[in-house]
Amino acid sequence: MTTAEKTTDTTRTTDTTRTTRATGTSRTTWASGSDDPTAWWSTDRVAGLAAERLEAEVVDLAGRLSAGTFELLVLVGELDARGLWARWGALSCAAWLADVCDVEVATARTQVRVARAMRDHPALHAAMADGDVSYAKARVLVPHLSTSNVDALLALALANPAGRLGAAIAAWSQRHEDPDDVARRQHHERCVSWRTGGDGMVTITVRVPPAVAGAMCAVIDAEVTRAGAPAGASLGQQRADALLHLLTHGGSQVDAEVVFHVRGDGTTLADGTPVSDHVVAGLLPEAFVSLLLVDAQRQPIDASPRRRTPTRRQRRVIDQTQHQCAHPGCSARTFLQYDHIQPYATGGPTVLANLQRLCGPHNRARNGPSVGD
Ligand SMILES: [Zn+2]
Repeated sequence: MTTAEKTTDTTRTTDTTRTTRATGTSRTTWASGSDDPTAWWSTDRVAGLAAERLEAEVVDLAGRLSAGTFELLVLVGELDARGLWARWGALSCAAWLADVCDVEVATARTQVRVARAMRDHPALHAAMADGDVSYAKARVLVPHLSTSNVDALLALALANPAGRLGAAIAAWSQRHEDPDDVARRQHHERCVSWRTGGDGMVTITVRVPPAVAGAMCAVIDAEVTRAGAPAGASLGQQRADALLHLLTHGGSQVDAEVVFHVRGDGTTLADGTPVSDHVVAGLLPEAFVSLLLVDAQRQPIDASPRRRTPTRRQRRVIDQTQHQCAHPGCSARTFLQYDHIQPYATGGPTVLANLQRLCGPHNRARNGPSVGD
């Protein structure tokens, strides 16, 4: 760790219960309000950097930061294993870390968890040392690691970007874990919590198994559709209104449909969240099952062209293949309506090749009221 490391105030020695790590001679602080124009952080120097040099410095520093994070985790792992934090009266290594390094407790807890996993699984340690697995990915990976799956999960981490790793692990677990274990774990980890943010707003977090989430989200969106939005409300705002209405007025009148896509390579909700076959089997007795036939190129095989409104099956196919509004440049992804590319009135058939999805405004701009039902 060199000049990029942030040092916290090292004069906290007045508080005798705290410790500060000895500072190395090469360390530079992030000076606040410094007017030294020769310092590397000075606004003048940075403003004078050529584009390539600026890019190179960002890439270089990002690399040093992740190398620094790795080093930090190695040290934290050792400190945790030796139990040194207890000497300072801290209740846990994470509590010590949060206090001394001035980070949030949740951040410190994650760091300790990853540091421990690196000691438990040398393959993870090696992958992180080589820079193959970033801390961002390790954080996602670690809660699921065991000695029996570490190689497979590390392969997933290499093959998927950090943002998609969670879903990839879930899909893998579904194929390789006992479905009863998955169901039991997911049920056990159900949780609702809330916390107040600095802006005074409260964030409510709900963790539920995928099939439950599918049903909850479908009910919220059904209420959004039923209620009709106040002018200018964003989708997020409409969902907040809908959720509040459901909680205060009861949601039993709302009729919502949850779609599960059951395929050879696994079952998912419409947004790609994996659901175990076990759950699907449990739902089957009361579910409406619609078979979707595809040809060798995985293109859906079509249905009736004469009726005006697309069949339920056609809508499912379009939903699965067209994820956003077909209007050029529009990225709307929710509450899309079905539209005949060649209008039905001028003989356009109701076949998949002639159907597209448009957001409300673009569909109205083209046709007036929705073609779908
Ligand atoms: Zn649109």
